[in-house]
Amino acid sequence: MDLAHCLLDRRDYTAVQFQQLTLPDLGAKRRNLVCITCGQEAFFRKPSADGRAACFGARPHAAGCSMAAEDALRVESAIGPDEAIIRNTDVLVVDFNFGAVQGAPHLQDGDQAGAQGRGRRHVAGAGAGQRAARPHRRLSTLLKHLRSSAAFGASNQPIEIGGIANRTLRDFFVEFSALHPHHFSQVVGCWGMIADAGAGNGITWLNSGGRGDISIGIPDAIGAAFTQRFRVTDLEDLAGAYVLAIGTPWISQQGKKCLIVDDIEFVTASLA
Ligand SMILES: [Zn+2]
Repeated sequence: MDLAHCLLDRRDYTAVQFQQLTLPDLGAKRRNLVCITCGQEAFFRKPSADGRAACFGARPHAAGCSMAAEDALRVESAIGPDEAIIRNTDVLVVDFNFGAVQGAPHLQDGDQAGAQGRGRRHVAGAGAGQRAARPHRRLSTLLKHLRSSAAFGASNQPIEIGGIANRTLRDFFVEFSALHPHHFSQVVGCWGMIADAGAGNGITWLNSGGRGDISIGIPDAIGAAFTQRFRVTDLEDLAGAYVLAIGTPWISQQGKKCLIVDDIEFVTASLA
């Protein structure tokens, strides 16, 4: 779409006007955009090297929004809430896409995790035999369900993830805009829309916007795996992407909210 509303200065912008803002101004405002018609969270994407013009988008617009047709973006086919999970009392196991040699990535919760919740891989031992009996879902599927159904995210379905048990969908997964101080001392699955991305000091930062305003850090150690797995050719591709990242959020000395992803298996992305 060619128009968006900025919540910071309460102005409507065309994509061309927005592109002409100074870099710091553009950087702040692109994290505070909404659709002028339906008010849903929107994003700005700079022109690409291969000639695509600057544009705005929203993923999704509200039902029936007239601006939706203007968004020439890939929209995932809508999949309904995962009733099979919501109604199931068995523990839902989150599957990681691990190789047999490295073993499954393992998370540490609470104080043992340290400030940045370093995850580790270990080879699964006892308990593997229960595998078939319980429902399993991958992170990419969970992100789709979280986006399509508020009931799914609000479910008290017990889950097990990376060796952490005794958590529920509702308390483990938290949308960027719903982050509260108590989330900053435990491992959570943070998800939401990315407004822009930038690289520096060995980390690529995926920045959300608005009230959540957390940045997801992808260290260079897993950077190549990340860009390959999610087909990122340019950092601008990540404007408007949905990301689900697992780790322990923390607040830097400058007051910036961050979550560093320690293992490629702890993140999934859905690009527009
Ligand atoms: Zn809209």
